[in-house]
Amino acid sequence: MNSRRDFLQKITAATIAFPFLKMAAHANNSLNQKPYEGPVLRVAIMGLGSYGTRVAEAMQDCTKAKLVGVISGTPSKIQTWQSKYGIPEKNCYNYENFDNIKSNPDIDAVYVITPNALHHDEVIRVAKAGKHVICEKPMSINASQGQEMIDACKKANVKLLVGYRMHFEPHTLEIIRMRNEGDFGKILFFQGLSGFTIGDPNQWRLNKKLSGGGAMMDIGIYSVNGSRYMIGEDPIWVTAEETKNDPVKFKEGVDETIQFQLGFPGGAVASCLSTYSMNNLDRFFLNGGGGFAELNPATGYGPIRGRTNKGELVAPIVTHQTVQMDEMADIILSGKKPIVPVDGEEALKDLKIIDAIYKAVKTPGKIKLDL
Ligand code: NAD
Repeated sequence: MNSRRDFLQKITAATIAFPFLKMAAHANNSLNQKPYEGPVLRVAIMGLGSYGTRVAEAMQDCTKAKLVGVISGTPSKIQTWQSKYGIPEKNCYNYENFDNIKSNPDIDAVYVITPNALHHDEVIRVAKAGKHVICEKPMSINASQGQEMIDACKKANVKLLVGYRMHFEPHTLEIIRMRNEGDFGKILFFQGLSGFTIGDPNQWRLNKKLSGGGAMMDIGIYSVNGSRYMIGEDPIWVTAEETKNDPVKFKEGVDETIQFQLGFPGGAVASCLSTYSMNNLDRFFLNGGGGFAELNPATGYGPIRGRTNKGELVAPIVTHQTVQMDEMADIILSGKKPIVPVDGEEALKDLKIIDAIYKAVKTPGKIKLDL
């Protein structure tokens, strides 16, 4: 398994499975390749917080996407970003006036990276302004809002994508390829562990009005979404149990720890943990009649590590947000179909499952899902 031949086979397989990695390698390693001359997606970021900052930095290495604008309520942040990224004054907006982006021909898309509960209204306003939208996860705080966002984007004839960066991550895609080729046999079990110990009790993530929930909305969603792309099916039922050890920090409607189980039509079961009270939880484990796959860490910023019953998984280490934004540019500008979808309908499925998980913690027995 550790022979050079096996290693080269894996590298070749990875290159076939991830043709975009040539471009990602170019971006990340500055390989001497012919400069890209195709269309470029011109993006404005809304919400210049910690994740917005990470995306902006990663976009400096993009080939097909470029940061050209900002939307923020803090003038000093706008100034800093303007000088760091060379953003012209005419591409800077605040939360009151960003509908004016409609008449700005130099911006193609807005990437919404604000607290969860704001996504719904902001995405709909961006759609009405005629711009494509990339929205962070969770797309919104419930399925009915998610449906309204999808409808608004359809009506405005703009694309709606959700920031599922793991859908472009090479180790993840390699496991999906192996599963599709039958390497693990009939898939029977998935375990997803997603959690961290949350700090400052005053942050928006612990304020239901802004977060829409607790750990499930923020980190548990990785196991919800991951169970679907790892198993390769959509679940048909859910059961869930909630544990709350700190009701002061985790107020009514802000979940601390939820264990949930999902049943899949092919017979597989997923058993998952979502928590804001434990660290070292970022692991996916997929088991089938013929083998297993593990990602550990599975969804952090990287490097992602994986192994299967055949040995260590060899796949390129990339900056997730760089690859995501270049791939999203291709999806928006050239209609490229990703291996795992990242559109509003994909995100709506996760919201329907999360709605059902919240219902299931209050209801004994299985809640049926119709995705
Ligand atoms: P953050 O608190 O660091 O940033 C949020 C930004 O929104 C801040 O700049 C804040 O000023 C702005 N904002 C606008 N209106 C606000 C309001 N009414 N109240 C509070 N803040 C307001 O949060 P973050 O970690 O950047 O998360 C933002 C979004 O990105 C969330 O939806 C989160 O789930 C998502 N996220 C995704 C990933 C990922 O890996 N895909 C990682 C982190 C966060």
